[in-house]
Order: sequence, then structure tokens, then C-alpha cells
Amino acid sequence: MNMITLPRLRCPNCGKNMGPVKAPEIPPANKFEDCLRKCSRCLIGATNAKNPAKVKYIYGDQPPQDPPPPAPSQP
Ligand SMILES: [Zn+2]
Repeated sequence: MNMITLPRLRCPNCGKNMGPVKAPEIPPANKFEDCLRKCSRCLIGATNAKNPAKVKYIYGDQPPQDPPPPAPSQP
């Protein structure tokens, strides 16, 4: 059986590695749940394109609610 490898990507939000992922077949990813490469922390999925230039990022339903960073004090 031919395994297809999706190359490693980095989460666009936190920079965590996503993948690489090997799968016997690559389904089209139209929603977060379909993505084989996901950042579970940010709930961001990368679509299943083998070409990293063609990958799109899909956000899960419940993005984490990060508190806004404190505003830097301006002199
Ligand atoms: Zn992340």
C-alpha cells in the first residue's frame, strides 16, 4: 500500500509542529475535523494539500480565548 506523507507544517498561531502525517489516502479537508494536521492547542487545522504553498488553515469551532496581552506602557 502506498502511504502518502503530508509534510510537516508549523502552526501559524503558536509555531508548534503539525505533522508530518502519513496516511494511506488523503481525504479532502473542508473543515477542521477533516484536517490530518492540526494544532490541538489553537484548534487550527491545515488542509491536506501535499504542497505547503497550497495549504490553507481552518480554524476549529472553539478557538481558545486568550486574554489580550497587557498594553505596553507608552512613555
Ligand atoms: Zn498552535
